[in-house]
Amino acid sequence: MTDTDGHQLNVAVLYPDLLNLYGDRGNARALERRCAAREIEATVTGVDIGDDWSPEEADIVLVGGGQDREQRRVQADLQQRGDALREYVDQDGVVLAVCGGFQLFGHHYRGWDCEIMEGIGIFDAVAAHPGPRIARCVGNVVALWEGETVVGFENHGGRTYLNDGQEALADVVSGFGNNGGDGLEGAKIKNAYGTYLHGAVLPKNPRLADRLISLAMERRYGPEAADLTPLDDSAALRAHAEALHAALSARESALGRRFA
Ligand code: GLN
Repeated sequence: MTDTDGHQLNVAVLYPDLLNLYGDRGNARALERRCAAREIEATVTGVDIGDDWSPEEADIVLVGGGQDREQRRVQADLQQRGDALREYVDQDGVVLAVCGGFQLFGHHYRGWDCEIMEGIGIFDAVAAHPGPRIARCVGNVVALWEGETVVGFENHGGRTYLNDGQEALADVVSGFGNNGGDGLEGAKIKNAYGTYLHGAVLPKNPRLADRLISLAMERRYGPEAADLTPLDDSAALRAHAEALHAALSARESALGRRFA
């Protein structure tokens, strides 16, 4: 375990006021707190439309979810940052993109009004909303990520489809995930993670939070810095267990109704 005292990480939150559904900003808080507990100073910066900011300044980039209207508002600004963000990911920069942000980090998202919003193509994926008559994907989710459960809450009309060769983040155990059909949740390329999970997702999934911190520490300070001091995660794991229970009992009662 390295002594991380005096180390520092820059966390950038893209469009914190527009893309912040279901408390996605809690992801930045979780990273901040888990860093602070290890004497790593995490500085969180919000990046709004038109701000003078470059991903080169960041160790972790977060982007949350939003309604179609908000996604449309940020779209042009995000396009302008596309080259720099793609280069950042190419150079192993760490990203967590949630729901609406995840959709815009793919090639495009066709919104509920059928208008295409161009994405920045970090994930080899496209998203499309089937229209207002088709039910949204709403509820608690459990997925398997590297043999462990990740939990969260989803609420999206758009369905994401990964192109061949694009790795998913996790496999759905309960819930809809990317599209309710192929059993896949999220996407992962290099150190960029995309997911439909709100919650916020990181406070309830401390191992995922630590993965992002560890990758960022390694990129900035070298391989020894990736080895993080374990923390007392009892509160986070209780929240995780409750979310797991809620998701699985909802699934059981749905199955019960179906076979009754
Ligand atoms: N507006 C998008 C959809 O409905 C994303 C929603 C979200 O971020 N929760 O699919």
